Amino acid sequence: MPSELRKLPSVDSVLQQPEAQAAVPIYGRELVSGAVRMALDEARQRVLGGAACPAMAEVLSAVADRLAALAQPTLQLVINATGVIIHTNLGRAPLSAATIAAMQQAAVGYSNLEYDLEQGQRGSRYAHAEGLLCRLTGAEAALLVNNNAGAVLLALSALAQGREVVISRGQLVEIGGGFRIPDVMAQSGALLREVGTTNRTRLRDYEAAIGEQTALLMRVHTSNFKIIGFVQQVELDELVRLGRERRLPVVDDLGSGTLLDTSPYGLTHEPTVQESVAAGADIVTFSGDKLLGGPQAGIIVGRGELVERLRRHPLTRALRVDKTAIAGIQANLLHYLKGEAAREIPVWRMIALPLAELEARAQALAAQAARLGVAAQVVDGQSTIGGGSLPGEMLPTRLVALPVRGADALARALRRGQPAVVGRIEDDRLLLDLRTVLPGQDEALAGCLARALAS
Ligand SMILES: *Cc1c(COP(=O)(O)O)cnc(C)c1O
Repeated sequence: MPSELRKLPSVDSVLQQPEAQAAVPIYGRELVSGAVRMALDEARQRVLGGAACPAMAEVLSAVADRLAALAQPTLQLVINATGVIIHTNLGRAPLSAATIAAMQQAAVGYSNLEYDLEQGQRGSRYAHAEGLLCRLTGAEAALLVNNNAGAVLLALSALAQGREVVISRGQLVEIGGGFRIPDVMAQSGALLREVGTTNRTRLRDYEAAIGEQTALLMRVHTSNFKIIGFVQQVELDELVRLGRERRLPVVDDLGSGTLLDTSPYGLTHEPTVQESVAAGADIVTFSGDKLLGGPQAGIIVGRGELVERLRRHPLTRALRVDKTAIAGIQANLLHYLKGEAAREIPVWRMIALPLAELEARAQALAAQAARLGVAAQVVDGQSTIGGGSLPGEMLPTRLVALPVRGADALARALRRGQPAVVGRIEDDRLLLDLRTVLPGQDEALAGCLARALAS
């Protein structure tokens, strides 16, 4: 055994090999020698366990594997064939070409992020998207933060710390990822004053709860679930009327926050930001990367004096929005202003995809699978919006169904491919929905499928 150990090459002798030398300009000397050390350590363990000393070629191949693994970013490209358009686990909204270009421009060089070019002095990063947001929503003022959870936390911290927030029991929602309204409320230092019941809350429930300690009335859009049957919630305009009477601001957390009406697409009407502003909500918060279809952000619009209080709160600095996000948000909002959102913003383009186009793409993929010996079928199915938006709402789609033995194994092989592909499994069939596969990715998807079926 010890003689076998002595046969192991030294770190230096491995590094001298042409294969190792060729890796140095690509990965750097440090990383290559680290990988050699790791490969030799592993080989030593195996030899100690009774194995024969590996040949140099084997060691070099282990080094190559190590280097590839070390240099591989953990964040990888995924082809989304799930049919869930705003898939939070897969990064929510893919961005429009103009949005990406704007973000790249902001990333590449310097910008007037916090610099007033007219005056030649310090400016505000929060000034940038405000004009666009006010024009699009009708609000007096706007403020961007890192995400909508942050927007809600900021609004409650700035307006209700140490005081009570009146909210319906039917709206104490969990958004996902552990974001629960009561917890955010506690974190902000506001005191939860819940009224009504899970299924029914009336205006007089709010009226009865208002007292000396009340800071504001809150409405949370129940964006990711539906209660049906014996239900009643107070409409926003009634809540606003009550707020005005009692001189209390109304904060409306819309969650998804759409600027476009969803109903022309065969979906139920998702409340729009403009409707909340028009109804008189004093602060409205929503996400940048749900139905808005832009970069991750929390967007706050509302009354000038209240937005100003939020802007001055120390949390705003902690929740500061990134410069590339600001650039992307502006470019994305511009699509709405120009009336081209449904054409240019990927989320909306996917929602609007005609069934005939999905059918044609699905048939093409099924034909390719057939050539690989799989009896793929094109079947009816349903895509969903996802991202906690429009629960239970479906868009009819055409799916490629792969009735293979071991659908789980095929799904795993697809997930491990380059790029990775994520589909759905139903009734021992692997289902691929092309609605969420980006234009130009169909061919890559077919290639991934061929490799996965071969493995
Ligand atoms: C999604 C959502 C949030 C959180 O928004 P993020 O942008 O994910 O931080 C908050 N409130 C509601 C109602 C939501 O739907």
